[in-house]
Amino acid sequence: MTVFEKIADLKAHITRLKSDNQIIGFVPTMGALHQGHLSLMRRAKQECDVLIVSIFVNPTQFNNPDDFAKYPVTTEQDLNLLQGLDCDFVFLPEKEEIYAPDFVFPDMEIGYLDTVLEGKFRPGHFKGVVQVVYRLFDLVQPDKAYFGLKDFQQVAVIKAMTKHFKLPIEIIPCTTVREEDGLALSSRNLRLSKGQRFEALFISQSLLLAKNLSSKMSPSALKKQLEDLYAESSLKLEYFQIIHPESFEFLTDEWVPGAVGCIVAYVGDIRLIDNMILKD
Ligand code: AMP
Repeated sequence: MTVFEKIADLKAHITRLKSDNQIIGFVPTMGALHQGHLSLMRRAKQECDVLIVSIFVNPTQFNNPDDFAKYPVTTEQDLNLLQGLDCDFVFLPEKEEIYAPDFVFPDMEIGYLDTVLEGKFRPGHFKGVVQVVYRLFDLVQPDKAYFGLKDFQQVAVIKAMTKHFKLPIEIIPCTTVREEDGLALSSRNLRLSKGQRFEALFISQSLLLAKNLSSKMSPSALKKQLEDLYAESSLKLEYFQIIHPESFEFLTDEWVPGAVGCIVAYVGDIRLIDNMILKD
């Protein structure tokens, strides 16, 4: 496994891989790796000739400075996990190189997706995501890039970006990996105390409940029911919305196949996100 910290070193290797017609699979991450990340990487290893993983905690996608400051960093452990996975290349750039003054980020209007759910509650978040992923794609030049459906809206934004800039990259969405009890794996789970870990379980359980109730009531009635449940819980619900899986329009009266329940809740000051298909 080769670790690059400098863009110039990475670029030299990419040129070689491209001239050898190697299919490059890419998994961008912010580190604090867990089995969710690793599932993306295993899939990339299966489907590509080489796997490149980046670890970069991107400051521009954090709308909350405290969340950025407290974001877990476990680089040594991450590198051990990647070594165990037989990862080929790891890119660990410095902020100064990613945001070098000579690199011009092309502007992209994210549109509706930037006004709902994560776009609404984390102003500037997707702009930061688009910036960093565009920059990483430009450097790594992957054939396939793997993203987790835990960040359902992020996958849609990345797909839109790839289409907008006509990038020859296949975006591959991957299933959410959960703990045995249902909690979606997340780097932020590292910040949960034992008690909070127990409380956090309410999120996936409420989504399962929503799925069960979806045959009995309209989306808006279900939304209300869930909001009432959260009002009685120790968690602070930021939003629960039932959306059309492609247009992201909010469903109210009628269900559509593949309707997704999207949720964000705070356990203490830790913001957790999850989603589930409520109608198959
Ligand atoms: P992050 O390090 O949080 O930026 O995540 C890097 C990638 O891993 C993103 O595409 C995430 O959607 C994905 N990811 C995070 N958690 C999970 C999970 N529990 N299951 C599957 N993919 C995940």
